[in-house]
Amino acid sequence: MSFSLLGLAPELSRAVAEQGYETPTPIQMQAIPAVIAGRDVLAGAQTGTGKTAAFVLPILQALAQSPAGRAPRALVLTPTRELAAQVAESARQYGRHMKTRICVVFGGVGINPQIDALRSGCDLLVATPGRLLDLAGQRVLDLREVRHFVLDEADRMLDMGFIHAIRQVLKLLPQRRQNLMFSATYSDDIRDLATRLLRDPVSVEVAPRNATADRVEQRAYRVPKEHKRHLLAHLIRDGGWHQVLVFTRTKHGANRLAEQLAGAGIATAAIHGNKSQNARVRALEDFKTGKATALVATEVAARGLDIKELPFVVNYELPNVPEDYVHRIGRTARAGGTGCAISLVGPDEAGLLRDIERLLRRSVPVVAAPEFAVTADPRPAPRPAAQPHHQSGRHKSPGSDSGRRDAPGPKGRGPRGAGQARSAGRSFGAHAGRRFSSSRG
Ligand code: AMP
Repeated sequence: MSFSLLGLAPELSRAVAEQGYETPTPIQMQAIPAVIAGRDVLAGAQTGTGKTAAFVLPILQALAQSPAGRAPRALVLTPTRELAAQVAESARQYGRHMKTRICVVFGGVGINPQIDALRSGCDLLVATPGRLLDLAGQRVLDLREVRHFVLDEADRMLDMGFIHAIRQVLKLLPQRRQNLMFSATYSDDIRDLATRLLRDPVSVEVAPRNATADRVEQRAYRVPKEHKRHLLAHLIRDGGWHQVLVFTRTKHGANRLAEQLAGAGIATAAIHGNKSQNARVRALEDFKTGKATALVATEVAARGLDIKELPFVVNYELPNVPEDYVHRIGRTARAGGTGCAISLVGPDEAGLLRDIERLLRRSVPVVAAPEFAVTADPRPAPRPAAQPHHQSGRHKSPGSDSGRRDAPGPKGRGPRGAGQARSAGRSFGAHAGRRFSSSRG
């Protein structure tokens, strides 16, 4: 199957070929023809499935076939600034052989350049809700020409409390338009919104929840909270990891961990909602270019980050909502690749892991944290080529030895160590009661 067989114009097929895409992903195969046919679409797809191209390509095609004015004829609404920037960047790549004018607006940065860009004419506008309403309120932006409307990551929009803003935006749009809605999960609220927004939609469901999860090698370390940072520093250094995205639950926790990892000699950047847009862009840039080995992020800040071939994701704390685990580990193993997701699970998190396993309908192998790794001084230490870590006077236990081998290699294909063999197939869920004294377990 090729992109041109989906009915895409040669300029678009050429642009995707230049991106290195050989065949359309499942969401693209299903959604592109439906969008070209002018249908409304409800798509169950998360980041990593190629969903952006699934709506951007056919919309660019439609835009090229209708006369341009000054006001946008297509609007993509995203929950976060990062996602808005990424969608716009993808659209620019896909539209590079066309004359389509693409603009992006989001908060946290100066509004004037955005006003200037809109005034000079825009065909496809990518926006976060707040700034969009701001610009519309200032009458800089006229949304009455919008013929194609995309609600991207609708579930996240609702989680972030944007329902009111979405309603406001809808009031500014003309009645006659095509609507596309993308959501990784389906709650009752999402179904409600879909019923109100979409007219006789084609439903496309490509990402059964664990499709991504199935390609990710998953592992959990049982580790007391106070030892998590030592273990993480050890895993990164000893595994030779060069790029790892680490999730924390809070902004404060992200800052603290970033400082601790930096103190342990690991180049680290942090990204969360309290950081300025510029600081976030810089952190992401440092991470993408390899200047920073670790990027510590909160859930919301990391939403939709498109980092190519991210090999490792670490849950420093498990998320409270099991679906978020799937989102998080979906940052690795993107577009068909493989990756490795490691969770550091404290005694009070056993119940959370059990919920996750229930959602995934599979168990996550649990490994005991190697003793030397959690008690070792996390200060930087050059990795001894052939010297085992337990040299520092600590006794050599099976745990310590296996701990070394358990750390998977950069491609996530770590050799199976004794520790893993011992614990493979077990899960917190099945053994939580015995292993933890917490009330959740
Ligand atoms: P998305 O789900 O839109 O965030 O896309 C995830 C990643 O997959 C991005 O890095 C895209 O560049 C990439 N991608 C999208 N479509 C394809 C394709 N047909 N073949 C290979 N990679 C793709």
